[in-house]
Amino acid sequence: MKKAIVCGAGGFIGSHLVKRLKSEGYWVRGVDLKLPEYSKSLADDFIIGDLRDPVVCKNSINFDFDELYQLAADMGGAGFVFSGENDADIMHNSALINLNVIEYAYKAKVKKVFYSSSACIYPEFNQLSEDNPKTEESSAYPAQPDSEYGWEKLFSERLFLAFKKNYGIDVRIARFHNIFGPEGSWKDGREKAPAAMCRKVSETSDGGEIEMWGDGLQTRSFLYIDECLEGVRKLMDSETFFGPVNIGSEEMVSIKYLAEIIMEIAGKKQKIKHIAGPLGVRGRNSDNSLIMEKLNWKPSYSLRDGLILTYKWIDEQVKKK
Ligand code: NAD
Repeated sequence: MKKAIVCGAGGFIGSHLVKRLKSEGYWVRGVDLKLPEYSKSLADDFIIGDLRDPVVCKNSINFDFDELYQLAADMGGAGFVFSGENDADIMHNSALINLNVIEYAYKAKVKKVFYSSSACIYPEFNQLSEDNPKTEESSAYPAQPDSEYGWEKLFSERLFLAFKKNYGIDVRIARFHNIFGPEGSWKDGREKAPAAMCRKVSETSDGGEIEMWGDGLQTRSFLYIDECLEGVRKLMDSETFFGPVNIGSEEMVSIKYLAEIIMEIAGKKQKIKHIAGPLGVRGRNSDNSLIMEKLNWKPSYSLRDGLILTYKWIDEQVKKK
């Protein structure tokens, strides 16, 4: 039986990844500051601990796991990452976690290590217009991410790659583009656009008004959680390709259109009030040429399919309040 350790197993992607690995027959250890908020973890063993502490890392990554997934980070949506108020914590906390995790993964002779990077590493100057953003993997350099969150991710990509180069550890890196789905942050200040819009539409009556940051013409693409995990597992199973590679959707939409799809799913028609707020780059889309070429894979769910499932879950949470 294969053994995996998921760092960040109490978070959105980590908790879904544990379920996925269990469904594939793995023995799984989770590590996080907290247990998952919305359902019981399926991990065989769950260590509550702070990965900024090298002793916690050493005690958690304490044998030669077949696979380690490093998802733990101090992160959130635009309200958390682009306000500027959390920059020191984002950089300090996530860098410490990554420095510790890769060191102990190496010391424990873990066989394969996955690192979750982000689309936020791509240069701001290639994403200034809403209709033709560039996120080809090779365009990461010369670097100019638009947030400290992106700079930390880029540093940690390089850190993991340096361990691969100098110590031969088998590292794989994906750059996630806006992953969404049930059981993610939706009201704690770390939520991303799809969850925030689902919440606003659910909380507001038909004919009412919802708020949106900016003019709503900024563009993004969003990937449903199950697709993200499929991409991660394909990357981990590859014998020839290790990334860094985008894992995202190429279905780019404006935030205004995102809200309109959600209203349509909810069966409501609401007015949009545009207000000032943290925005990030003007346009972003995943470029999936490399993943298609190397892993012969691209996501198949439409944005609408994923939003139907996500709206249903958030609507239930709103009604439970
Ligand atoms: P999340 O915030 O839901 O999960 C991160 C988890 O890390 C949380 O459960 C948190 O408690 C844990 N954590 C934070 N500090 C810790 C510490 N010191 N010790 C132990 N655990 C700690 O985020 P997510 O959406 O599941 O993202 C997972 C990874 O994917 C992150 O590295 C994130 O940067 C990356 N990523 C996510 C997205 C996305 O759209 N969700 C996009 C790009 C990259």
